Amino acid sequence: MKTLRMLSGLLLSLGLFSTSLPSLVAAEKSVNSTQSVRFVGPIAAGEVRPHVYKLAGAEMEGRGTARGKRLAREYLIRQYQELGLKPLFPDGGFLQQIPGKTADDGRPTVRGINVGAWLPGSDAELRDEFIIVSAHYDHLGILGGRIYPGADDNASSMAMVLEVARQLKKQPNPPRRSIVFLNFDLEENLLWGSRWFAAHPPWPIEQVKLFITADLLGRSLGNLPMQSVFVLGSERAPELRTVLQRVGSPRGLQVERLCTDLVGTRSDYGPFRDRRIPFLFFSTGEHPDYHTPQDTADRIDYEQLARISNLVLKIVADVADADSPPEWATPPKSDFAEVEALHRITAQIMAAHDGGVLNLGKVQRFFVSNIHTKLGSIIERGDLQPHERPWLIRSAQFLLITVF
Ligand SMILES: [Zn+2]
Repeated sequence: MKTLRMLSGLLLSLGLFSTSLPSLVAAEKSVNSTQSVRFVGPIAAGEVRPHVYKLAGAEMEGRGTARGKRLAREYLIRQYQELGLKPLFPDGGFLQQIPGKTADDGRPTVRGINVGAWLPGSDAELRDEFIIVSAHYDHLGILGGRIYPGADDNASSMAMVLEVARQLKKQPNPPRRSIVFLNFDLEENLLWGSRWFAAHPPWPIEQVKLFITADLLGRSLGNLPMQSVFVLGSERAPELRTVLQRVGSPRGLQVERLCTDLVGTRSDYGPFRDRRIPFLFFSTGEHPDYHTPQDTADRIDYEQLARISNLVLKIVADVADADSPPEWATPPKSDFAEVEALHRITAQIMAAHDGGVLNLGKVQRFFVSNIHTKLGSIIERGDLQPHERPWLIRSAQFLLITVF
């Protein structure tokens, strides 16, 4: 979650995108356009809030000390057990140890520990296909004597995973495919936990039909008053755009689709994307409290977190019940939605500058204005030429770096 901070901020700062995506979406091949949406949820703010307060509480020590991480794992396991979910790993447990270097005396060491549970699918033929819903549980711990609570990063997403699990488990008729709930360790250490899992899954990794992860779900970029969530990854499985359209968006939530190459590898989807597993990444973006001791539970927008949790819940239920799963697209399928998103963002940035909320230099203001104008002409023309995409990526990065 580095550069996404800035892009998210940009996007959040506009946030006009709604679920009725432009007409190009309507032409997308559907997973099954007639499929009805299962009735699930809703997840309420009061249900996600206690998880965040607990996981970002002082006793968890920023989930970066041995004790704090153990307490976080114990909390997660207790939740999964109370829900009646099955342990994920072959030894019959909820934990997957990630080995470290061999110690000087030759003994093995443990570098980290992933947590996982699952809900078996109800369809005998589809039960061996898996949908993963994940959120890393580690954070920065205690630095310089101060606790870094990591409420947004990433207690917010763990709360989403737990409540999605609760809703799916209580369905009288479980989803057809199996659902896996995962909490990776060592995301803050080069994604070590998810990389280990992807290399050592409990079943062949090809059986994972959709990988979902989330990082930072409870704030907004730059604390701008936007109600957006960024959804990345549909360029690699365009049917997921149809799914997004079909499930709609909880009232008050703006869904902004981006292609992943605008921000690079920012979280645990990296190792799954590298194995060509269709994926979606959800984030509300970074903010000034990101990776500081001020990332506290009282600053989370719980209504927003509940809305996003409901969105993820519906997507998971939809894909789990579909006749056929999303398929990996080579090459990735471009998404005009990101052009329109950046167009709105640049307008918002200029408005923030002109309104005194954001202070840009003269040159910055000039470049933002130029980008905005060019995006406007691309929208008018109705398509993005292949040679313009590198420009789009550079522009997004410029906006990220310069403005936020
Ligand atoms: Zn994170």
